[in-house]
Amino acid sequence: MGEQSDRVAVVFGGASGIGAAIAARFTAEGWRVEIADLPTVDVTDEATVAAFLDGVVSAHGRLDTVINSAGVSTLGLVTDLAVEEWRRVVDVCLTGAFIVMKHAGQRLSAGGSIISLSSLNARQPGAGLAPYCAAKAGLSMLTEVTALELGSRGFRVNAIAPGLVVTPLTQPAMDIAGIEDDYLANTPLGRSGTPDEIAEAALYLANAQWVTGEVLDINGGAHLM
Ligand code: NAD
Repeated sequence: MGEQSDRVAVVFGGASGIGAAIAARFTAEGWRVEIADLPTVDVTDEATVAAFLDGVVSAHGRLDTVINSAGVSTLGLVTDLAVEEWRRVVDVCLTGAFIVMKHAGQRLSAGGSIISLSSLNARQPGAGLAPYCAAKAGLSMLTEVTALELGSRGFRVNAIAPGLVVTPLTQPAMDIAGIEDDYLANTPLGRSGTPDEIAEAALYLANAQWVTGEVLDINGGAHLM
């Protein structure tokens, strides 16, 4: 690992919500942070992801932590959902995560790590959220497999599984009467989380040198219900 002030992080999906909070928190801790987001970087476009990471390594001379916070969702029952909608969500949330892990794993500096944003929905089904839940379940397993594969190179691979955090991604669901109240009624701590609380977990995982293959529940205890 480099000195705290030398360390370089890339945040895919870092222009909004949780990714923006992670970028701000790492910057406040002295990291050099590069944000990769639409429209210039699409995580489903392998050549663009590879070129972006090459640019970061050549500009900064190192790459310590790659965070993938890019994500999209859709609302629709399995019986109603267009296959194109299924593919759009799985492409960003699962295939995009694979592309980021593949190219981060090829370029990390010694002691580097990858952190993905999975979800409580990886283990807790949500009606109307089939492609999102399935993609996040896949992402949690992908995190474990990649951690196994990269451990011998000294790289760590982890994920965070947030519960409800109100951001532009979740606002459309919040506008449906009752959804937020249902969630909060089934959460021991009785409130949603903030992007800063997820950023705190990302900083922990970036620093925790003996933690790999972990999918960290940050959800006010909602996974217990
Ligand atoms: P958000 O919509 O605020 O931010 C997502 C970001 O990803 C946006 O900046 C968007 O432009 C970017 N993005 C979307 N598609 C992309 C693509 N193809 N290539 C590059 N960037 C792309 O959402 P958020 O709530 O901050 O979500 C961040 C991550 O956390 C997502 O992976 C989401 O699934 C996960 N998550 C969020 C919550 C929550 O309650 N907000 C809960 C669990 C997991």
